[in-house]
Amino acid sequence: MTLTLTDVRLTYPDGDRRLVALDAVNLRITPGELVAVTGPSGSGKSSLLAVAGALTSPESGTVRIEDADVTALDHKGRDRLRRERIGFVFQQANLLASLSALDQLLLVAHLSGASRRPAEARARQLLDRVELGGKAHKRPHQLSGGERQRVGVARALMGTPALLLVDEPTSALDHDRGEAVVSLLRDIAHEQHVATVMVTHDLHYLHLADRTVAMQDGRLAAG
Ligand code: ADP
Ligand code: MG
Repeated sequence: MTLTLTDVRLTYPDGDRRLVALDAVNLRITPGELVAVTGPSGSGKSSLLAVAGALTSPESGTVRIEDADVTALDHKGRDRLRRERIGFVFQQANLLASLSALDQLLLVAHLSGASRRPAEARARQLLDRVELGGKAHKRPHQLSGGERQRVGVARALMGTPALLLVDEPTSALDHDRGEAVVSLLRDIAHEQHVATVMVTHDLHYLHLADRTVAMQDGRLAAG
């Protein structure tokens, strides 16, 4: 699935003025491509993901996912698009403390109405893919930070997304674990033809991306 942002502008209220979070942003990401977005804190990276993932509507400009104009969808249409086509991975894996790794994935399938048996087969396959097949029954406190983040990646893939949006996945990890998570994201993007946008301000991992773009004050430049 190709993601295309055209001339996107997003502002937030800021007293009696507006704060410009995204300004004339153009970006196109094709299936199987891992694009890294860098830039200082406050430059608009998370805002970019929120717009790309149909969590926020831009003030102007368009967001297209394949042929669909996301900005023209209503609330329900956006919810459905997110559920069916988009996976999110955040800074913290945000796992539920009481659930095993396997159940974190099954919960997603259950909430989207999938039947149990195929969901379990897919969940086990994904846990194998992130090298946690042997830890499917461990709960978050029994896993390391890197392992928790890998569960988060597997969970984001449960719905077979065509677009994966990842916000600072390595910020809680040491360098080796961070590199393992970014390599995994790249390999998954390539193998499963997922268009992947990864925000990171950590320059160590950029060599793993297919392409890097940089945000500065809400504007995007080739990195
Ligand atoms: P980054 O992820 O690069 O740190 P953000 O996209 O979070 O940047 O923020 C871009 C700018 O928009 C910052 O100035 C931030 O303070 C502001 N901002 C982000 N979210 C909101 C919000 N919900 N309301 C108001 N201002 C916001
Ligand atoms: Mg951010």
